[in-house]
Amino acid sequence: MPAERNLPTPEAEEIVGLARSVAREQLAPRAAGAEEDAAFPRDVFRTLGELGFLGMPYPEEVGGAGQPYEVYLQALEEISAAWASVGVGLSVHVMSCYPLAGFGTAEQRETWLGEMLAGDLLGGYCLSEADAGSDPAAMRTRAAPTDAPGWSVSGAKAWVTHGGEADFYTLFARTSEERSRGISCFLVPGDAPGLSAAPPERKMGLTGSTTATLDYEGVELAADRLIGGEGAGLQIALQALDSGRLGIAAVATGLAQGSLDLAVEYAKERETFGRPIIEHQGLGFLLADMAAAVESARAVTLEAARRRDRGLPFSRQASIAKLVATDAAMKVTTDAVQVLGGFGYTKEFPVERHMREAKVMQIFEGTNQIQRLVIARHLARQGG
Ligand SMILES: Cc1cc2nc3c(=O)[nH]c(=O)nc-3n(C[C@H](O)[C@H](O)[C@H](O)COP(=O)(O)OP(=O)(O)OC[C@H]3O[C@@H](n4cnc5c(N)ncnc54)[C@H](O)[C@@H]3O)c2cc1C
Repeated sequence: MPAERNLPTPEAEEIVGLARSVAREQLAPRAAGAEEDAAFPRDVFRTLGELGFLGMPYPEEVGGAGQPYEVYLQALEEISAAWASVGVGLSVHVMSCYPLAGFGTAEQRETWLGEMLAGDLLGGYCLSEADAGSDPAAMRTRAAPTDAPGWSVSGAKAWVTHGGEADFYTLFARTSEERSRGISCFLVPGDAPGLSAAPPERKMGLTGSTTATLDYEGVELAADRLIGGEGAGLQIALQALDSGRLGIAAVATGLAQGSLDLAVEYAKERETFGRPIIEHQGLGFLLADMAAAVESARAVTLEAARRRDRGLPFSRQASIAKLVATDAAMKVTTDAVQVLGGFGYTKEFPVERHMREAKVMQIFEGTNQIQRLVIARHLARQGG
């Protein structure tokens, strides 16, 4: 039973419908095998790029598809319902383009943004470090000015999605000792001399998505690779994360929807005590709660997206959406394993994988403790 959507235009229905058919026909059949082999599906991103998904929420004037976030997120959700690693990759790529699109000069956008959104290139986002995850202002990676003029970057960025695979990285590095105002944003080519990736992390889920530490050893960047001015980096990073968190909320909603669909299908077929298990009230109520969680996650995410589309502040709503949707995904995927009983615990069905994938959604792009911190700060400033 696909998600019942309420899309704003026939064009939006067409786009989300296209995402759904690509997800079902091309992604779903490959997901289990690629995740088992920990094989990063670079070709899938080329396909999504050709269809315009990699630049979807950016204006047409700069090379994007000019779609509102409300539509982009629903396409992302469809993709994630089939294959979460691909959904996460798409969301990270879109976030990686945000600093240049929002803070780059006209000349910088003219030079790089078109090709970043065109679909051939894939981006990565280098904010976290081994000792600076929840607290990015503790970062130590340094960009020192050179005579050229330009910058020389040294340090290590941890947990980089697409680390070693991406064509460009949006990097945050320290340009002065000032804790928050001493961080700047840079656009780094993936093949820059001095840039290398450590072997990928061996993770409990999302194994088709490469996550690696990136070492910057004296990586030389020309002066025009600085985005948004010296010292503006942390503010840019946090603003990009507001939009990125909506992406993760949509990925989590899609993942939960995928698990719910499987659980319902199974519960209609599987019989105990002479009838389908969905007809046992105890199990039917479990499925009903799962459906309520998925729809709530979608509603809160799309409401935040609509605020963004209308130019209203949405930071608090983005954190709430990320919190609600990823907690929903954890609960729904865990309950889906329960609905399938013993089979739920095997690799015969994708629900055990969904459960492992849901866990990381509560961790990256700000753990759910950090989302609560952001929400509480908004409450302290503005009230409820
Ligand atoms: C698969 C994966 C992909 C990732 N991709 C990227 C990427 O592409 N780019 C990138 O920059 N980063 C990425 N990350 C990093 C991710 O964003 C961080 O792991 C996350 O922000 C948490 O940081 P940490 O791991 O250092 O945990 P820590 O900050 O050490 O936190 C440990 C625990 O303490 C809690 N905690 C910390 N501070 C507080 C507080 N003030 N109040 C209450 N609780 C607190 C946290 O919630 C957590 O439970 C990725 C991580 C993973 C696992």
